[in-house]
Amino acid sequence: MTPDSTQDVKREVFDVCQEMLKAALVIGSSGNASIRINNTDNVAITPSNVDYTCMDIKDVMIIDMNGEIVEGERNPSSEYPLHLAIYQARPDVNAIIHTHCVYASTMAVLREPLPPIVDEFVIRLGGQVEVAEYGFMGSEELAKNTVEALGPRNAVFLANHGAVCVGPTLDDALYNALLLQRVAHIYLLAASVDKKKITMLPTESIETQQQMFEVMKHLKKR
Ligand SMILES: [Zn+2]
Repeated sequence: MTPDSTQDVKREVFDVCQEMLKAALVIGSSGNASIRINNTDNVAITPSNVDYTCMDIKDVMIIDMNGEIVEGERNPSSEYPLHLAIYQARPDVNAIIHTHCVYASTMAVLREPLPPIVDEFVIRLGGQVEVAEYGFMGSEELAKNTVEALGPRNAVFLANHGAVCVGPTLDDALYNALLLQRVAHIYLLAASVDKKKITMLPTESIETQQQMFEVMKHLKKR
């Protein structure tokens, strides 16, 4: 596999930011996205403190696995330690999206895991979405807590903060972020009607979907 062109990966990160903004997954310059660059130890990541509405492709930063700037005039997202920690722990992950979307953040404030309540959830996200213990934004502690709570799955809540979704591609990570937002919304609506009536997927369905998740993880690569 040949290395990605720097311009192409920067465009991918820029484009996904516009999608995140359109889908109300982020506001202003909050949240961030990154992608691993094929055959290198480098990552393309959103810049720190640049509003998505006035961000340019050239603002996307390239950093190495130590967080050193390889290319770009800005600073990388302050959450780069979290992104790098996930890439180091999960060779299957090539793209990461961190959002502050309303329903996922509500779960993060409640510090309540999101159980498998609808089909597709386990296939895409790998099982119940756990809550990472609180760590100050941008800290190594938050990075460590996030990796621990994410485990082998594709989504995690950050206590009192937001959510992180990952995938083999940025399109997958974005889809997972949209799915997480949707299922968190459904869960909160159901809980507001009667939490005692919330029913999990049947165990056999969860197990089958878990197997499909594992198969897709090995098949689907960027
Ligand atoms: Zn954040």
